[in-house]
Amino acid sequence: MLSEKEIQFYSRQLGIPLWDPGVQERLKTSRVFVAGAGGLGSAVIYYLASAGVGTITICDSDKVEISNLNRQILHRYEHIGMKKTDSARIAATGLNPFISIQTLPIKIDKANAGEIVGDTDLIIDCLDNFEARFILNAVSVNRGIPMIHAGVSEFQGQITFLHPPATPCLACFIKKDTVTQHNRVAGMTPGILGTMQALEAIKYLTGIDGCMKNRLLFWDGLTMRLESILIKHDPKCSVCGKFHDGASGP
Ligand SMILES: [Zn+2]
Repeated sequence: MLSEKEIQFYSRQLGIPLWDPGVQERLKTSRVFVAGAGGLGSAVIYYLASAGVGTITICDSDKVEISNLNRQILHRYEHIGMKKTDSARIAATGLNPFISIQTLPIKIDKANAGEIVGDTDLIIDCLDNFEARFILNAVSVNRGIPMIHAGVSEFQGQITFLHPPATPCLACFIKKDTVTQHNRVAGMTPGILGTMQALEAIKYLTGIDGCMKNRLLFWDGLTMRLESILIKHDPKCSVCGKFHDGASGP
């Protein structure tokens, strides 16, 4: 049951068609695993907290650095040197005291990924490297937990909702040996893509749905263009191919 204070907190969204108090209570019992409390994670965690997602697990092994602060708006100048998970928990519970924040200041690797993701309704990929993304993707596929992927670079970003076998997995359309990485990014870019991830998460958790399945959306901040391409199962995918038995995808 929602308290009187919670009803006041969420009153502006409780008036939206499809978002009644029953939906809000469903959000309150929802559990989300957020991998990364950086630029994407800042927007995701703030908006999931403000929407009333009941349990948010934040996984990040880093400490706050001065060079994070152009985009990682969960963190504060006075929190430089603090674990990002602690800084994020302070920010999220300061915004909404009616939710629970679990923190995991741990680096995701193959050995621990299944255990640290735990029992969750949804994985949100707010990572900054593809090595950990592919590990998280394997957990998502093997456990049947949907994953919202986003990635950003400079003024561009991409996002998709992954839930094999209804969709491809990350390894179907991003090949490890084709990924190049750098760390240049305008702060607004992860803010926008992270906000899109939070929106996708809320649509999935509430059952409103309409999520970005089987499409990869690209956002270009310089031209303000949004474009999406169809993405398909790779029947030879080493991660999710076993579910498709040679099918060519949706
Ligand atoms: Zn796959």
